[in-house]
Amino acid sequence: MSLQMCSQVIQPDKTKSIQKSTSMENSTTKNNPYYSRTDRTKLNVPNSEWKEILSADVYAVAREAGTERPGTGKYNVYDEKGEYYCVVCGNHLFRSDAKFASSCGWPSFFEADKEGTAYKRDSTYGMERIEVVCKRCDSHLGHVFNDGPPPTGTRYCMNSVSLEFVGDGETASK
Ligand code: FE
Repeated sequence: MSLQMCSQVIQPDKTKSIQKSTSMENSTTKNNPYYSRTDRTKLNVPNSEWKEILSADVYAVAREAGTERPGTGKYNVYDEKGEYYCVVCGNHLFRSDAKFASSCGWPSFFEADKEGTAYKRDSTYGMERIEVVCKRCDSHLGHVFNDGPPPTGTRYCMNSVSLEFVGDGETASK
């Protein structure tokens, strides 16, 4: 059911551009003056500006609430130990300890960084869902469902495109 719900929201026009550029570098740290892994200050940057900074695939998902094709994201099947940050602004979102194999086609977590994530009601596509956004830059991350595993029973169904992973022991570039 939830799998279907996720699949239904794929927008064909955006999917094409995302599919074409799946091998594209996910990082937006270059020429991005707003990127910081330590600054939690709320950003209020217009999409016109983000469009100049972000790659096309990141912009389509993060700023236009697109959805990457299931099973195509770089973090879908990925179990390295480390931290997940917002690819748009560098805000901390998830810890790998809360990631689980959901088999839904998107990276899934049972818990989010409460300081890093916020929620919005999403009534699009004839469904009532809860959208998860980055608390700092308001970028779209995915949706949250109540069919996750213990201990929370929550499933954060995220787009890999919106995330940036930094492994334990890796030196943060910023
Ligand atoms: Fe962000």
